[in-house]
Amino acid sequence: MASEGSKAASGTHHFETIAVHAGTHIDGGTGAVTPPIHMSTTFMRNTDGTYTDGFMYGRTDNPNRRALEESLAALEGGVCAFAFASGQAATAAAFLSLRTGDHLVLPADIYYLTGVLGGDLLGRWGLQVSSVDMSDLDAVRAALRPNTRMVWVETPSNPRLKIADIAAIAEIAHAAGAWCVCDNTWATPISTRPLALGADAVMHSTTKYLAGHSDVTGGALIVREEGELSAHIKQAQNVGGAVPSPFDCWLLLRSIRTLPWRVRAHSANAMAVATALAAHPAVERVNYPGLPGHEGYSIASRQMALPGGMLSIEVRGGAEAALRVTHRVRLFTVATSLGGVESLIEHRKSVEGPASSTPESLLRISIGLEHPDDLIADLEEALS
Ligand SMILES: *Cc1c(COP(=O)(O)O)cnc(C)c1O
Repeated sequence: MASEGSKAASGTHHFETIAVHAGTHIDGGTGAVTPPIHMSTTFMRNTDGTYTDGFMYGRTDNPNRRALEESLAALEGGVCAFAFASGQAATAAAFLSLRTGDHLVLPADIYYLTGVLGGDLLGRWGLQVSSVDMSDLDAVRAALRPNTRMVWVETPSNPRLKIADIAAIAEIAHAAGAWCVCDNTWATPISTRPLALGADAVMHSTTKYLAGHSDVTGGALIVREEGELSAHIKQAQNVGGAVPSPFDCWLLLRSIRTLPWRVRAHSANAMAVATALAAHPAVERVNYPGLPGHEGYSIASRQMALPGGMLSIEVRGGAEAALRVTHRVRLFTVATSLGGVESLIEHRKSVEGPASSTPESLLRISIGLEHPDDLIADLEEALS
């Protein structure tokens, strides 16, 4: 993997330092070290027409959201960030930067509802969408049309952990006059810096690793520079109104302070579990970019500082065998979502439904912060 603990591209400090300090300010009124939660939805207008600190109305801006956005921009090395009420709200804001008749390229293996949002919901408004295997650059080039305006990357992809070459895809998109936006939810900025690789914007479901404790729903977009894309996103945030509450922003900022250390531990645990499962006779295939046998390993080694905490396995014996594992695990909770301190497992095809192309034998696993030996013992027992 690429050098770990490297300094953030945009500043002089390391990630650990940025995570602790960005967006946090000592409260002027009380000296409080931990920021207060500002629930006020409205802010007093001064006699000269100005607003103290520029806050006017809660949907437009709020001290807790501004602090969170400062932190997110610093972590991803962007000029500014926009926080949303969910990952889907953030994706919707990015897609709403497009117009009727524009063409959007999506990865074939993708967070299922990103595809539904672009193809079905916005398809009704005339957005054209196609899906390609983004581990194949020729397929990405072949998918471009004269009206292609956005290429969406998700790496590692959901649920097969395919790796896409962000720098190469950003270059292909830009040559065609399209934006490249990268869903960095699974990798996190601790592992992968899409903006430094040429992406125009990064999307996060902050519900996952950024929140890290399965107790906040949120999303974010971070942009590389100010321009047409950031202006559209800002409008979608303020006018569309899918904004997070001050309390959710406060919780997220608190969680981000430990993000580098959590991601490192999630990743080390996942590497141990993936290695053990790759040697298990009941497992046909382990999808994890930290394993040298993974088809995207060489790109992952270059692009990711850490292979991350997510993996999926394909179990011998199809859907029945896979479901049996979910009935037999004790330490893993059978639940959707990922990135929390507790390990989760799910039969992804059951969640995505009959239209999904996810294999029946596939189990998606989010590795938590328990001891890896306990996780391995639990999975080996359930697979035996
Ligand atoms: C969860 C997830 C989303 C959607 O985010 P929500 O916060 O659930 O709306 C998008 N992309 C990826 C990769 C995800 O894991």
